[in-house]
Amino acid sequence: MQITEHFSLAELTRSDTAKRRGLNNTPNANELANIKKTAAELEKIRAYVEAPIVVSSCFRSAAVNRAVGGSSTSAHRYGSAADIDAVGYTSPELARKILEMRDKGLIKFDQLILEFPERGAGAWVHIGFRWNSGMRNQVLTAKTVKGRTVYVAGLQS
Ligand SMILES: [Zn+2]
Repeated sequence: MQITEHFSLAELTRSDTAKRRGLNNTPNANELANIKKTAAELEKIRAYVEAPIVVSSCFRSAAVNRAVGGSSTSAHRYGSAADIDAVGYTSPELARKILEMRDKGLIKFDQLILEFPERGAGAWVHIGFRWNSGMRNQVLTAKTVKGRTVYVAGLQS
């Protein structure tokens, strides 16, 4: 099932963990509505950077979220976040492009997180939305310090 021109439901609900453990990752109607809104934002990013967007994780059911150790309040849980990269861009470059979009009034987000830029090609960009309660416009970088994940303000790479 195609959600938007370039994003399918399969891509936005795919989970290696779900597959490996036989967990259900099917969204309910509300979650599906959120996934559609998220996909529409990803289309905007795709158009802006003029490159395909690769989604490593979007929706996570309660079971999948538990299995990956995600926060119970994670926007992924509701289908309102995506972990992405863009073909031909590093993660820091993609994050900067999204900030450029924000500054031009082309996108609003709740959280933009540059995830583990020290991992190079293993980094990614998390973008999360809050459709009903106002977007916080938070920009963070996640990094590993002494084996723990810490979040620092702004984009740092
Ligand atoms: Zn994420």
